[in-house]
Amino acid sequence: MSESFYNILGVSESASQEEIKRAYRQLAKKYHPDKNRGNKRAEERFKQISEAYNVLSDPAKRAQYDEMRRGFRRGAGATHAWGTTGGGAQGFSFEDLGGFSGFQDVFEEIFRRSQSRRTRAAGDWDFSSFGEDDTRSEGERGADLEISISIPFATAMQGGHHRLRYNRPVVCSNCRGSGGQPGGGISDCVECGGRGTVVVSRGGFTVQRLCRRCGGRGRVITRPCVVCAGAGTVQKERTLTVKIPAGIRDGQTIRLAGEGAAGPRDGTAGDLLLRVHVEPDPRFRIEDGLLVTDVTIPLEMAVLGGTASVDTPDGQVQLRIPAGTQSDTMFRLKGRGLGGRGEHGDLHVRVRVDIPRRLTARQREMFEAFAREMKTAGR
Ligand SMILES: [Zn+2]
Ligand SMILES: [Zn+2]
Repeated sequence: MSESFYNILGVSESASQEEIKRAYRQLAKKYHPDKNRGNKRAEERFKQISEAYNVLSDPAKRAQYDEMRRGFRRGAGATHAWGTTGGGAQGFSFEDLGGFSGFQDVFEEIFRRSQSRRTRAAGDWDFSSFGEDDTRSEGERGADLEISISIPFATAMQGGHHRLRYNRPVVCSNCRGSGGQPGGGISDCVECGGRGTVVVSRGGFTVQRLCRRCGGRGRVITRPCVVCAGAGTVQKERTLTVKIPAGIRDGQTIRLAGEGAAGPRDGTAGDLLLRVHVEPDPRFRIEDGLLVTDVTIPLEMAVLGGTASVDTPDGQVQLRIPAGTQSDTMFRLKGRGLGGRGEHGDLHVRVRVDIPRRLTARQREMFEAFAREMKTAGR
């Protein structure tokens, strides 16, 4: 039988904080374990008193407790999950609760649920749907796996394929993912009788919660599968050819749905996340979002014009250099970038003019003559 906290402390529901404190002190003294060595009943009572005081001495907790009791009276009988506990009709005692670690758990759970309930429908209590999140959960989703891959710059630019080999958990074929050895390796959970939920009562409330022993599945592994040792999954190597989209940048991720870890108990598989590292190519770089390469031309070509060979991701092309080209001029080769697609579809060529450092005597004479000529021309 589960008494209300007011009954446990022997105070009225309108008792002041002072009265509650006084009642608690008296009872705690009376039932204190030091004074009742070996007395199980006293020990139990002392626990109940402490629990009751813990809630009633805290105005916020007390208000919530009161509110729950009021809602409980209105909604009593609406559901089996929240039944009355008077008269010991359900025959529960603290000892019956087995693995249940204490009142705090249940009460925290009641609070947690009533709070989440309140945010959904302010002040409107509907106990009939309490416990809706305590349904059995078969089939969990498998974990996502993350793998790093390295691809050549040209593949990142133009798109392509990358072959990949990795290990991932797959459903164990021996136990079909159940984790129990076939032929009796799995039995109904004795804690909850296979229901997946247990009913606990405290403080005048009865609450149904997920069975901790079986995690709400109602079944437990009694003899683990000899292949996967109960995990339900085994590691298996997988080879995949992944399509690399043109224009992918260093650090971006490719997600492959369902290529991650298998989900336990027939759940869906997780995803495979490929973190892409693009190997740099000394010839090309991304500059302000543009694909850029450099070309160095001799001084005379800059002055007189000519043709320069330029490396593109697709091979060499000839770039026409007009006469009078300045250093740092940018030329655009349309469609010579990322496989002709996206914002990197074009290749930008920056011209660097190579000024000769050493001249023959004759070249020097010619430059001097050139300089005089420019001066005469009034430059
Ligand atoms: Zn197995
Ligand atoms: Zn169970």
